[in-house]
Amino acid sequence: MTRIEEVLRTLDEMFPNANVELNHTNHFELLIAVVLSAQTTDVSVNKVSPELFKRFGTPEKMDQADVKEIESLIQSIGLYRNKAKNIKMLAHELVTKYHSEVPSNRDALESLPGVGRKTANVVLSNAFGIPALAVDTHVARVSARLGLASKTDSVLEIEHKLMKKIPKERWQKVHHQLIFFGRYHCLARSPKCDQCPLYDLCKYEDKSNYKK
Ligand code: SF4
Repeated sequence: MTRIEEVLRTLDEMFPNANVELNHTNHFELLIAVVLSAQTTDVSVNKVSPELFKRFGTPEKMDQADVKEIESLIQSIGLYRNKAKNIKMLAHELVTKYHSEVPSNRDALESLPGVGRKTANVVLSNAFGIPALAVDTHVARVSARLGLASKTDSVLEIEHKLMKKIPKERWQKVHHQLIFFGRYHCLARSPKCDQCPLYDLCKYEDKSNYKK
């Protein structure tokens, strides 16, 4: 079995139901939640999003909102001032350029305030079923440790390497499985190497320090 086959098989066994953990009920809420999740945890976004979506759950309402009010609703998450400004401007763009709909193509998504390649990938794959493989901090770390990419690779290089190795139809699921693997098992500071099914294959130079 090749390295990637073993990784994919193990991820399927460990996290058969991995999926997006940001609470949302429609494309707009998903887009806003992903923008808010930059450099903060999904858990903290899920704490502020119910009230935010209750108050400003459509592009029109968010567009009309007082930015200070948005700030007060999301102030427990990192970079909240910038994010409040961005999601209001983003809603304005949706209303004025996209008939209040979230666009389903990469260029349009990436032109929105606060939306980069990673956010666009998450929205493309989860909202529209368009194969994409978003690379966040977890995906980058575990890809290097599992020998699927190099520690020195850029986010874009990691994305391209993963896309080359992993069948397209698996991209959406593997994205979530790699996040779960990094979030719950191969943690940045305390990886669970002592109970890791991929220990022998892993290239992390400090793994023996975490083996009892
Ligand atoms: Fe991560 Fe440790 Fe498993 Fe390597 S052995 S993949 S560092 S948990």
